[in-house]
Amino acid sequence: MRAVLLVHGGAWAIPDILADGSIDGVKKAAKEGFIKLEKSGSAVDAVEAAVRILEDIPVFDAGHGAVLNADGDVELDAIIMNGKTLAAGAVSCVKNISNPVTLARSVMEKTDHVMLTGTGANKFAEKQGIPQVPTEELVTQHARAEWKMYQKYNESVTNLFNTQMVHDTVGAVAVDYDGNVACATSTGGITNKMVGRVGDTPVIGSGGYADNNIGAVSATGHGESILKVNLSRLVLFHMEQGKSPLEAANTALCYMEDRVTGRGGVIVVNTEGDWAAQFSTNRMAWACVKSRNLFCGLNPGECFKESLI
Ligand code: ASP
Repeated sequence: MRAVLLVHGGAWAIPDILADGSIDGVKKAAKEGFIKLEKSGSAVDAVEAAVRILEDIPVFDAGHGAVLNADGDVELDAIIMNGKTLAAGAVSCVKNISNPVTLARSVMEKTDHVMLTGTGANKFAEKQGIPQVPTEELVTQHARAEWKMYQKYNESVTNLFNTQMVHDTVGAVAVDYDGNVACATSTGGITNKMVGRVGDTPVIGSGGYADNNIGAVSATGHGESILKVNLSRLVLFHMEQGKSPLEAANTALCYMEDRVTGRGGVIVVNTEGDWAAQFSTNRMAWACVKSRNLFCGLNPGECFKESLI
């Protein structure tokens, strides 16, 4: 039974007040994503379904709950990738979309391109009949309060991008019963980011990568660092060299810390259904369903197991 569905809710210093909500959210997404995997049998369907659930939960920085940029606006990034064909779809800097992962999937399946950005992506959403919602519908009180705090103290961009203060980006990876892998990642980015800033999330090889010859990865953490080391593809490179998902994840995260002082987290599967959820930040909420068991954790080294039967 190699089918696996693994999700994360962002690698950062998750405060205690958000801990239970984050764990509950990733468990829900992993369970429902796995049900989708069993029903449709497709890794791509499963990662999209899991990420949509996470985008709808306001505790996470994606879709509803997204953080605000320097203008107090919401700009969203997302990616999805099919390991069977290497088809990928991404959107960056989109506004007023509740489920950017679904828009990314439309880019993958209904255009000749890999990424659409800004107004072009929003126009495409309209053509596809993907509903656009008022910004206020996506903004939580928490996101607004955090933005006001940043404005008040007028911190420098360098301080803002402190490796512990990035946010709860969401992601999923899956391997289906046929050995096909897929990944999806979605984010609002980093509070008070410059208008037009694009992070790692929608960039193929950085925020995610999926290849049936190796496995799939979804990344989270300091976007500028992840971009510099191409974190998701770097993990898969180490797997190609013979490392397990766990060893590859740790090697790539150490490299990012050594080379660019960046921290983050990754979820990883290989085509045999081996998996890993690793992070170099204080915490990362993650959950995994495999063979009717649910595994989850939040703190380093933690792995709780529940039976789903
Ligand atoms: N990687 C995301 C970004 O930099 C943030 C995160 O993962 O929390 O946009």
